[in-house]
Parts: sequence; structure tokens; C-alpha cells
Amino acid sequence: MSAGGPAFLPYGRQEVDAGDVAAVAEALRGDLITQGPVVERFERAFAEYVGARHAVAFSSGTAALHGAAHAVGVGPGDRCVTAPITFAASMNCGVYLGGTPIFSDIDPATWCLDPHAAAAIEDARMIVPVSFAGLPADLEPLRATGARIVEDAAHALGALRDGRPVGGPGGADVTCFSLHPVKAMTTGEGGMATTEDDELAERLRTFRTHGIRRGAATTPGPHDGAWYYEQQELGFNYRITDFQCALGLRQLERLEGWVLRRNALAEQYRELLADDAERVALPPAAPAGSRHAHHLFVVHFAGGAPVRRRLFDGLRAAGIGVQVHYIPLHRMPYYRDTWDVPQDAFGHSDAYYAGALSLPMFPGLTEDDVVRVVDDVRRLLDE
Ligand SMILES: *Cc1c(COP(=O)(O)O)cnc(C)c1O
Repeated sequence: MSAGGPAFLPYGRQEVDAGDVAAVAEALRGDLITQGPVVERFERAFAEYVGARHAVAFSSGTAALHGAAHAVGVGPGDRCVTAPITFAASMNCGVYLGGTPIFSDIDPATWCLDPHAAAAIEDARMIVPVSFAGLPADLEPLRATGARIVEDAAHALGALRDGRPVGGPGGADVTCFSLHPVKAMTTGEGGMATTEDDELAERLRTFRTHGIRRGAATTPGPHDGAWYYEQQELGFNYRITDFQCALGLRQLERLEGWVLRRNALAEQYRELLADDAERVALPPAAPAGSRHAHHLFVVHFAGGAPVRRRLFDGLRAAGIGVQVHYIPLHRMPYYRDTWDVPQDAFGHSDAYYAGALSLPMFPGLTEDDVVRVVDDVRRLLDE
């Protein structure tokens, strides 16, 4: 950027204010800065926001997904299904436990996992639908499969599926969120898993802390004394700190406003780009009765890879931090080479990838910023 030019616009950015900083500082002065009371307070407030019975906080969204895959019983050789258009963690979580990765293509109308194609896969142990960009994925066709459903809702905090919050009752067996700074709200690093099921919640909590349980109700003993605990399975240290949760509590208070702001910005993008539909396809909208969370605002260029490349480079040169979400996972050398994933079996994902570009989308974006982005998109398309 040249000095005095327009400010660099990232594709996503956190909102942290003086009150957030004060809340974190106060938590740091407490007696317990981890494994203390703020973690539970944050979990209760988060559970209330999505209407869930249980919310279990983790050190990252990836850790929450790993915990969820463990909780639903993924083990060696179990088939784990997700779509290629997602972040690696959606599939890695099952593979960490010895699961076998099975990719299933996206539906070009939603850019989410095609639930009918996924439901036709035999003997899946876990299906991980991703509510991509913040659009609630259709879970209904997956329910009759016998597979456990772990929704990757890293993009979808604040979304409504048929009027009900993603992560609450009527959703997946376990729903996982990310609290990374580019997501809807942040704790720095952090994640959350929500469930209606008491046993799954207990398994998530145990996994988060080494596989250790305490208390007479869950430890058969023999009980040697008040210090007694048992490591009953193999878990990890996936805990989040109290000062991160102090930030999370503050962020949660503003979350609903941010989701509405993202929706308003998306509406502005849609209006400004509406008459260019032949060159730029707009992202799939939420169906009636549902609400998009708009973690991302992805447009798709009709000209495919060469046009997207020109737009990416041109917008970056103009100080606009566009991104590409995502390079299809089946193309990653790890999955391609280690698992012999067929390279030409996911045509909708490849076609999506060829033209996709994420435009800036975060609550601090102004209407003038959106106009600037759209003007630059048009200028580059006209070149
Ligand atoms: C961000 C993200 C994750 C992982 O979350 P972290 O908190 O970064 O570990 C998982 N899945 C998707 C789709 C994501 O976007």
C-alpha cells in the first residue's frame, strides 16, 4: 500500500473494544486464570444463546470437532464423511481417531454437502455437514442413515435453521463452533461444542481434559481419598482459559447485533451486484424462515479460474484483502496421496473452486467500503 492510499480492507476482522480489554484484565487478576468459574459462565451464556442443553468450551474449533468425533464414537476404520469445500479440520477430526476419510460432493445450489448424496454412502459412522459461509446445511436427509451427525458450524454462529438457532435443539448430535478472530465472535483461539445429549456432553468434557473423570458418580474406585480421580480413556488438554472466556462473554453480548450487521452488508452487496448476474453469481441465500450468518460473502465468477485469478490479484493490488475459501480438500496432497482420494470424482466442488472469491465481510465494514469493493470488482471485470 502506498502511503495515503485507501486503508487495507481484510476479508474478515475481529471487533475488540476497551470494555473487552478491561474484562480480560479483570479475569487475569482473578485467583484462577484457567479451570476457574468464568469458563462455566461463558458455557452457560453460550448455551443460552443457541438454546442448547450443553455447551462445552474448547481451546479451538478444531479441538471441539476432535472431541465431537470422539464423543460420537469414531474409531479405527470408521468411515467419516464431509464435503471437499471446507477447512481441513472438518475431515481431520475423524482421521485423528483412525477414521477413514470419505468425501462427498457439494450441492451446487447451496455450496454445502449434498445431503442426499452423503446419505447414500454406506456404513458411514460420522457425517460432518458444514454450514458453509453461514448458510445452515440441510440435515434432514442425513437423519435416517444411522450415522452420527456432527455439524461443523464454524461459519454459522448466529444462523437460524427453520427459525431455530444452529447449535440448539433439532440440530445435529453435536454442533461445533470456532471462536477464531475471523469468525462471528472471538476468544483469540477457542471453540465450542453444543449438544442436547447428557452422555455426549460428559464425553466431550472428559476428552477435553486428558480422559480424566472425578467424583464418585463416574469413578468406580477404589476411592483412596478426596484427591481421587481416574483416567478412563485417552484424552487431551484442550482447555480454554478463564481470561479468554471473559472476552467471550463480552463478545457474546454483541453477537446478535453483529449477525444483523453482516446480513445488512450482504444485502448491500447483493443489491449492488444484482445487475451483473451474468458475470458474478451471488452466494446462495438462506431459505424462507432461516437466517444466514454470513461469516463469508463468496461470489463466483462465470469466467472461472482465469477471471478469478485476475480479480484476486487486482483486488489485492487495490488493498482489498480477498481470499479463496477453499481449495477442495480432496486436492490436498495429504488426502490425495495418503488416502488415494479420487481426484476427478467431485466435479461440483472443483467447479465451485474455479470461480470462488470471498469479498470482505465483517461487522466493522462500512457501506462506503462495500461500494469501494464493488466498484473495484466492476472495474477489473471490465478490463
Ligand atoms: C475455522 C474453521 C474450523 C476450525 O476452527 P479453529 O478454531 O481455527 O480450530 C473448522 N472448520 C471450519 C469450516 C472453519 O472455518
